[in-house]
Amino acid sequence: MNLLATVLFVSAELLGAVIFWATKDTVKRMLLSCLGLGFACSIVITDIIPDSTENFPYAYLVVILGIASMYLASKVGKFIGKYSAVLGMGFHNFCEGVVLTAMTINPIVLIGLVLHKLPEGMVTFALLEGKKDKTRFIMSGLISLLIPLGALAPIPEEIAKPITAFAAGVILFVVSTSMINIVTEHAKNNESITSKIATMSFMGAILGTVSCLIC
Ligand SMILES: [Zn+2]
Repeated sequence: MNLLATVLFVSAELLGAVIFWATKDTVKRMLLSCLGLGFACSIVITDIIPDSTENFPYAYLVVILGIASMYLASKVGKFIGKYSAVLGMGFHNFCEGVVLTAMTINPIVLIGLVLHKLPEGMVTFALLEGKKDKTRFIMSGLISLLIPLGALAPIPEEIAKPITAFAAGVILFVVSTSMINIVTEHAKNNESITSKIATMSFMGAILGTVSCLIC
């Protein structure tokens, strides 16, 4: 199950990169991203975080620590440019691999998580702007390989919960900042698009929450 999940994750991330590369309609591309990212946010909040708090009372603190450290990394990263965002994506992929191994994931949550890799693949590919297409695909491929690396990392049971909580914070930060970046970039050129973006993100969040409640 977890092996299958890892394979699905990597494929979805790469598919996202291909979709981004092949779709010329930026509005469609962006609305699709918002749907997936909204979904991801709600799954972290309604499923991954509650799971990590079980028998681990400090989980919320660790989640905040995860968010704070990504925030600090992004501040330091401003000097290095947008490639730090790519590194952040890579680190978050590693964390997701860890989560895949540490958690017992039910099928609906798995579908949600796999779906959120599509926009993430798109975001990663978009961040590599300015490079040759071939380089962008190679880099995207390498970044997606951090998922199986995280899934295979030998992590003892007793620190799996704190790491899941930390990963939840990291995922939440990466997903929400990706969404903010996409929205601000497009709202600049076209103000009427913001309500569409909000609707798609919200729909994604509702879908994610409902699917977690069903399971
Ligand atoms: Zn993710």
